[in-house]
Amino acid sequence: MNALHELRTVRPASVDDATRALVEGGAQPLAGGTDLLPNLRRGIGTPRTLVDLTAVAALDTIAPLPDGSVRLGAATTLAALARDAAVCAGWPVLAKAAGLVAGPTHREAATLGGNLCQDTRCVFYNQSDWWRAGNGYCLKYRGDKCHVVVKSDRCYATYHGDVAPALIVLDARAEIAGPGGARTLPLAALFVEDGKARLTLAAGEWLTRIVVPPAAGWRADCAKARVRDAVDFALAGAAVALRRDGDRMAGLRVAITGTNSAPLAVPTGDVIGRPWDADAAQALAKAVQATGNVLATTVAPVKYRRRMLQALVRRLVDDLWKQP
Ligand SMILES: Cc1cc2nc3c(=O)[nH]c(=O)nc-3n(C[C@H](O)[C@H](O)[C@H](O)COP(=O)(O)OP(=O)(O)OC[C@H]3O[C@@H](n4cnc5c(N)ncnc54)[C@H](O)[C@@H]3O)c2cc1C
Ligand code: SF4
Repeated sequence: MNALHELRTVRPASVDDATRALVEGGAQPLAGGTDLLPNLRRGIGTPRTLVDLTAVAALDTIAPLPDGSVRLGAATTLAALARDAAVCAGWPVLAKAAGLVAGPTHREAATLGGNLCQDTRCVFYNQSDWWRAGNGYCLKYRGDKCHVVVKSDRCYATYHGDVAPALIVLDARAEIAGPGGARTLPLAALFVEDGKARLTLAAGEWLTRIVVPPAAGWRADCAKARVRDAVDFALAGAAVALRRDGDRMAGLRVAITGTNSAPLAVPTGDVIGRPWDADAAQALAKAVQATGNVLATTVAPVKYRRRMLQALVRRLVDDLWKQP
């Protein structure tokens, strides 16, 4: 680990002050720091200013709304999300996903915003500076070639966040603040499938809140495959939300993580309106295969992660379909 480079930290108390601080060149958001600080200690990134968002007023709150939605501040910790009574009752898949992240002490500091906006990962990237220097760095940071997809002109580092797939299948929206004012977008549109660019946020923009609509009528669950059962990133992960109408699949949403450079929704149109049987399962498996792009960005074998992805999705849909 490197010593931290010279930088300053500011701690704004309002959304406007935070935006003003983030517009300045060389500024970067800081939340729990559990993703950002290890990377800075590896010499990845040299922000001049860290803008600590955890003191911004009312950004650590979980607020049920009159229409049955819930509004989650970006600075809400994952521990608070996992144990919140309203979230556990109305959106249990979200509480479960938050509880799957890292370990208990991480979750007391780690925030929802930081989890969603966490950097992508790769065995050639999450290494010390001397290790990366020995490989001539790579095009995600300081280098000009990719060691995973040689001759590629884009980075394939993988997104491993656990919470995004749950929020995508719950049809959540993201609220963004920035120098041009506030805007909202479907959560899935926050991400871009490029390991280096990662997010669709413009300069000075940042995530303030997430709004999750009521999930009545939907059954949802999530799962991840990992080497250890705690403090470990997903080698493959998935969330599923399903609406059953008698013997018909009335609605199905599937989102995946740990496989691509972004958390992605899997197209499920071929499965809607029919029973969940072997043919439907095969159609969904094809869609998962076409969406997932597992590459050698982790130490676990690619084939294993591809199979785990298929198995996780299949098991989640099977179990949710059978739920009374
Ligand atoms: C040992 C270990 C195990 C881990 N295991 C997991 C795991 O199993 N699953 C998992 O998902 N993650 C895991 N992580 C990664 C990380 O701990 C979590 O993703 C955590 O939720 C990050 O949140 P944070 O508040 O600490 O983010 P920070 O580290 O503060 O920030 C992360 C990134 O998001 C940006 N950011 C923060 N807040 C905002 C905002 N509001 N708007 C825009 N950008 C923002 C920061 O600039 C930074 O780039 C692990 C980390 C470690 C060290
Ligand atoms: S996928 Fe390629 S460019 Fe991206 S971090 Fe890994 S080696 Fe670097």
